Amino acid sequence: MNGVLLYIIRALHCMGAVLSSDRKKKVDLGIVVASTMALFCSFSVNCEAREFFVAGAGPFAAAGANSSAKLADTASAKAATSVQPKSDTYQTGVALYNARRYREAEQYFTKVVKQEPANSDAFYYLATCQALLGDKPACLRLYKYIVQYFPNTPAATSAAQYLAQNSPVDTALPGGGDSQKQFKDALDTMQKMVKKASTAPASIVSIVQVVRARADRPNVSTEAVSAIKQAVDKLPPAVKDVLWANSVKIFVTPTVEDYEPGVKYQEARGYEGGTYKSCPAFYQNRKIVIAERTMDEGDETIKDAFPANQMVNSLYHETGHALDFCLDDISHSDGFKHAYLLDSAHVEPSVANTLRYYLQKSEDGQEECCAELIGLLLGQSERHTAEMRATFPLTLKFLRAKLGI
Ligand SMILES: [Zn+2]
Repeated sequence: MNGVLLYIIRALHCMGAVLSSDRKKKVDLGIVVASTMALFCSFSVNCEAREFFVAGAGPFAAAGANSSAKLADTASAKAATSVQPKSDTYQTGVALYNARRYREAEQYFTKVVKQEPANSDAFYYLATCQALLGDKPACLRLYKYIVQYFPNTPAATSAAQYLAQNSPVDTALPGGGDSQKQFKDALDTMQKMVKKASTAPASIVSIVQVVRARADRPNVSTEAVSAIKQAVDKLPPAVKDVLWANSVKIFVTPTVEDYEPGVKYQEARGYEGGTYKSCPAFYQNRKIVIAERTMDEGDETIKDAFPANQMVNSLYHETGHALDFCLDDISHSDGFKHAYLLDSAHVEPSVANTLRYYLQKSEDGQEECCAELIGLLLGQSERHTAEMRATFPLTLKFLRAKLGI
């Protein structure tokens, strides 16, 4: 449900800048929020229904305000209208924020909210830093806190606008009662409208684009193109809807260099020093790229073409990344992380080496495992599928339920 709504919301806003696009910079700011929240245990709390909507504006009125630039502008503008006391720590935080040094700014605002628990602007800045640093869940939690405990402030108004755009409907919203019902009704209506407009047509092969060879090398074979197109049209309707609604494009290319000359010098993740030259497929910002051939890392000799079924397997894996990204970072959700950590704590030593790409430390392993398991659910074969099924049963179960496939 969350995922469907989120993609609808994103479709509504033309999928502008996405906060999580810089996921590598994500830090566990949940700890910061949790400790901040703990400070307020002794607060006397007014739990009356709050005015959730901005006067004269609907929940989607602030379309596009979730882009980084607008978030930054909004934070500055809201703070400027406030009459709250401004300590030196706060002012330093603002200066760092305006200099786009969000990591340092976030540390300052964390201090400020402890020292000045009534400073709603500091909370707003802190939450916005979290969003800009890629931790959207922490930001959402803090925005809800602001709406609940600092009603009728510029910070609460902005936070409410952002929440109206970015909260799944089944997340508890502050205010409850009428405002929550009003929010749900509005979202239901929008959902129906958008569903009508964004349901993918029976065939979505138009999202597949064939890249021409730049250098003197073979173009993509017609066999590979038709295998990819057939596989795309055989994807479950719900998956096709997500790809369609999010304008995901699939590029089938002779080599990655033909798609984008620059990428061959970029190090591919998990390739232990290797570059995209030897990477058969990747996903980047709503673009799935599948190469028919790779290049030698040293002399750039073009290797033999992959069989079409192997390219289709790559398509499934990269579609997994696309769904992860379009459905609000499934691989970074608490449910996914929980299942993944439990599964990866019990890896058979005999398969640990085979599956090391999906067990990488940091968030890479999580994301790769998520993409591979979704690929498996979409029909991937002949690719350590048995080992993946045996190693990640809980994660697979979680994804099956999440995607409804
Ligand atoms: Zn991958």
